[in-house]
Amino acid sequence: MVHAQLHCIFPQCDSRYSVNSDANACTECAGLLDVKYTGIDASSVKELAQLRRMNNTKVHDRSGVWRFRHLLPFYLEHAKKDDNLVTLDGMEGNTWPIHLTHAAEYAHLPSENVWFQFEGNNPTGSFKDNGMAAAFTHAKMLGRTYVACASTGNTSASVAAFAANELSQMRAAVFIGDGKIARGKLAKTLAYNPKVLQIAGDFDDAMSRVQEVAKSEGIYLTNSVNPFRLEGQKTIMHRVWEGLDWEVPDWVVVPGGNLGNCSAFGKAWHELYELGLTTKMPRIAVINAQGANMFYQLVQQGAVWNGGKVNREDYNRAFANAPKAHTRASAIEINKPVNFYKALRMLEWTNGVVSEATDDEMLEAQAVVNRNGYGCEPASAATLVGMKKLRAEGIIRPSDKVVGIFTGHLLNDAEALIEYHAGERKYQFSNQPVKVPNSLDAIVAALR
Ligand SMILES: *Cc1c(COP(=O)(O)O)cnc(C)c1O
Ligand SMILES: [Zn+2]
Repeated sequence: MVHAQLHCIFPQCDSRYSVNSDANACTECAGLLDVKYTGIDASSVKELAQLRRMNNTKVHDRSGVWRFRHLLPFYLEHAKKDDNLVTLDGMEGNTWPIHLTHAAEYAHLPSENVWFQFEGNNPTGSFKDNGMAAAFTHAKMLGRTYVACASTGNTSASVAAFAANELSQMRAAVFIGDGKIARGKLAKTLAYNPKVLQIAGDFDDAMSRVQEVAKSEGIYLTNSVNPFRLEGQKTIMHRVWEGLDWEVPDWVVVPGGNLGNCSAFGKAWHELYELGLTTKMPRIAVINAQGANMFYQLVQQGAVWNGGKVNREDYNRAFANAPKAHTRASAIEINKPVNFYKALRMLEWTNGVVSEATDDEMLEAQAVVNRNGYGCEPASAATLVGMKKLRAEGIIRPSDKVVGIFTGHLLNDAEALIEYHAGERKYQFSNQPVKVPNSLDAIVAALR
C-alpha cells in the first residue's frame, strides 16, 4: 500500500502532517515541508512510464508529469484512483533532453556528452506547468476552488491557465510587483483572465503578502513553498533519466531564483536512489543571476545543510537585510529564496555547487542557444553560462555527462531579444536587420 505524508524537512523536528492539509510550513518549527512516501513499488517504475508513453490515448498518460504519477502518488491518499489528476489536457511536461552543438561548443564540452531540455516548451511557456499540474491536483483533493500566487510572470500565467482550464474550473488571483515585468509574461498572465493584483513593492514583497493572504483567507497557495508543486517538478528529472535511457548524468545545471526547481530535482534523484532504481546521484549546479545572488553568496560564505543543524536566525537576518535584487533575468530576480533550506539540503545530497551569471553573459548565451534554432529566456540562459564557467574552472570535466535545463520560452522576454539584436549596443552575436532601399538591385546586392 502506498502512503504519503508531509514531513518537516528538519530531522531534529521531524513533525508529520496529513497530506489532506494545505500547510506550507511546520507548525512546530516553521520549517519547510516535504511529501514523503512509503510503499512505492520500485520494480515497475520504468516499465509503467514507458508503457504510458507508448499507449497514450488517455490524457494522464500523455502528460509528461502524470506519466510518472507512480513516483508522486500523494493523490492516492484521497481518491485511490487517478480521476482527480489535473492536467492541461495532457500537454504539460512533454519535453525531453536533446543535443545542441553550438551550445555545447560554447561551453567547451563535447556535444555527445551534453543535453538540454526545453521546459519553456510547456503550454504556458515555462517549467511551472509541471508543478501546477501537481499543486492543482492537491487543491482539488482538498476541495479548494480559489488559488493564488506571487509571480515574476511565469508562475502567474501557469496558475491562470490551469485555473481557467475546464478540467479544473477554479478562481485565481495573482500578485505581481510594481517593478518591471517582461511584457510577454504580463500579456500571457492577463490573457488567461485571473484577478491580477499589482502590489506596490517588488517580487519579495508580493511573495510575503500572498502568503499572509492565503493563510488568512483560506486561499490555496501555488508558489514553490507548496511541497506538492515541487512533486510535479520532480518529473523534469524523471524525463531526463528516461531520455538518457535510464542513465544518471554526472551533472544537472539549472538557474536558481526561489530555489524550488533545484530542490525538486534533488528530491527526485534522492528518491530514485533510495528506491534502488539508480546507483549514483548527479551533481546539481544552481546558477544565480549576479544581481540576485544571495544563495551564491551564502554558500560561498560556508552555508551548509549539515543534516539540518543550521542556525536559522542568522540566515533569517541575512535575508531580512538582503539588498534588492536587480537583474535583466526577471524570472530569477529574487534575493529571499523561499526554498533556501531545501536547496542547501539538495547541495548536500548531490555534492552540488552554486555559481552566478551576469546579465551580459546570459544575453550572449541566450543568443548561442538561438543559433541552434531553439530559444529560451534570459534567466534560462544562466544554465549555459554556468556550464561554460564550471567547465572553465575544471569542475565539470570534458568526459562528464551534463544536462542543462532551460526553464522558460524565448518569447517570454521579446524586449530582451530586440534590444540584443537591434538595439544601439552591439553584442557578440547581434543580428541587426540590414536596411535596404526598396529596389531590386539594392536587395540583390545586399543578399550577396
Ligand atoms: C520560475 C523560474 C525560474 C526560477 O525557478 P525557482 O524554482 O524559483 O528557482 C527560472 N527560470 C524561469 C524561466 C522561471 O520561470
Ligand atoms: Zn518542524
